[in-house]
Amino acid sequence: MHATMMNVPLSLNHLLDRAGHLFPENKVVSRLPDKTLRTHTYAQIHRRTRALASALQKLGIRKGDRVATLSWNHHAHLECYFGIPAAGGVMHTLNLRLSPDEIGWIAGDAQDRFLIVDDVLLPLYKQFAHLHKFERVIVFPFSGAPVAAEFDNYETKLAGAAPDTFTYPAHDENDPVAMCYTSGTTGRPKGVVYSHRSTVLHTLVGCLAENWGLRTSDVLLPVTPMFHANCWGLPYGAVMMGAKLVFPGPHLHPDDLLDLIKAEPPTLSVGVPTIWLGLIQRFERALTEEPGRWQLPNGMRSMVGGAAVPESLIRAFDRHGVWLQQGWGMTETSPLATVSSKVENAGEAERFRRAAMAGMPVPLVDVRIRTEDGSDAPHDGTSMGEIQVRGPFITGSYHEVPVAADKFTADGWLRTGDVATMDPQGFVRITDRTKDLIKSGGEWISSVDLENALMAHPAIVEAAVIAIPNEKWSERPLACVAMKPGQNATPAELGAHLLKHGFAKWQLPDRYEVIDAVPRTSTGKFWKLKLRERFPR
Ligand code: ADP
Repeated sequence: MHATMMNVPLSLNHLLDRAGHLFPENKVVSRLPDKTLRTHTYAQIHRRTRALASALQKLGIRKGDRVATLSWNHHAHLECYFGIPAAGGVMHTLNLRLSPDEIGWIAGDAQDRFLIVDDVLLPLYKQFAHLHKFERVIVFPFSGAPVAAEFDNYETKLAGAAPDTFTYPAHDENDPVAMCYTSGTTGRPKGVVYSHRSTVLHTLVGCLAENWGLRTSDVLLPVTPMFHANCWGLPYGAVMMGAKLVFPGPHLHPDDLLDLIKAEPPTLSVGVPTIWLGLIQRFERALTEEPGRWQLPNGMRSMVGGAAVPESLIRAFDRHGVWLQQGWGMTETSPLATVSSKVENAGEAERFRRAAMAGMPVPLVDVRIRTEDGSDAPHDGTSMGEIQVRGPFITGSYHEVPVAADKFTADGWLRTGDVATMDPQGFVRITDRTKDLIKSGGEWISSVDLENALMAHPAIVEAAVIAIPNEKWSERPLACVAMKPGQNATPAELGAHLLKHGFAKWQLPDRYEVIDAVPRTSTGKFWKLKLRERFPR
């Protein structure tokens, strides 16, 4: 017997057409370099995106060709998300926070044919232009300044295209649509390539009520850069649902974000913990120093992930009516793999304890925790092992890299390099990245647990814990702490604070170093590698 269902390929083109036809009046707002707001309707975005696809075809794009973007979060970048695949191309988002050498290397590795770049980022482009030759460089006049004749002008190309007669080239649902590079903390960055199928499935799973819970009536503020695991897939979801989008452009300072939140109050926002840490400190300071300057939208939800979300941060936002919902994942997992959805029927302590966990595997993603001896760790909330994942939006290899045993198991699961526990309810708790765990006298100490507890201390604003070599114990924890302005805490006070949080004496840091701030990676996460270099012993 055969199933009688139509064999229609899953397609991003469908999501785009849906927004254009069903939600033509819904809005996409972008903050421009001069901080003014520019609004487009989905009808306009739909037409402009089809114009982009038509223009790319006229420029000679072939199926599978890579078109790189070097852009902030704004409507034209959204047009690239859909327009490049609609033309048969593969969108490759370049991380503008990497060094010019790294960007050039990555563009070469991906064999990017064209580049679409914000005019305000041309100085960065010029620093790596000698490392990779793009056939065409298309400049988006984000600032409104004239585009130099040596480049193609994005707006001119769109104006000269034929969106009404453009037809989507036929495609298979497994054809590639986008690629992102991993951070390359160990060795060179590696390319992950997403397909129509993986992206549509990830979008559907993301939009579920327990995950992003994205509705047409939502107003989404994506602070996560569109080059960071494709903004965690949220732009695809917003277009599918026709939700209003508010893009912050290049203005990510806490004051700018608070101004934008005031002007265009979101119901849902997305970003790494360090963004929200900076925002809540600024907001709370303003409450006393400049009362009434800003409000946080009551009932706003925020998807937070990419790094551990301290319970103290979740509680701080909750005091102002905003719920932080934690997700765990990586570029390789599209990225959503687990979500800690709000536990409603539980006491306050339990609600926050669970919110500070990575949460439950999302549908379609298989998660297992493997111990060092290769067995499955019992789901008891304490047994640790490596998280391994499998599913239709998990990468099974890397772009032009031979499949290596350190990244994939013999039975085809992705080895994430994250260490975690799972409890009887299926909640995952990330203990550490394998390389960040502190191995002391044969026992593991979780740097994440120590950091979260330290950041709950009233004098501390940021904390990062690293391992330093120790002759007797092999490694011991060193805590790097940044204090709030005018505040202080002695090592003895911090030790007593940690003991109160349930740590054993042998788990306490041997040393505390006071630093100005924890260094950040290109995606805004705490960069412990830099601290290890600074404090090698
Ligand atoms: P990178 O951080 O290396 O630039 P990714 O954005 O792909 O690249 O990061 C994935 C990693 O981020 C995960 O393997 C994990 O270590 C960390 N991570 C993501 N979400 C969480 C979370 N909720 N809690 C703790 N760690 C997280």
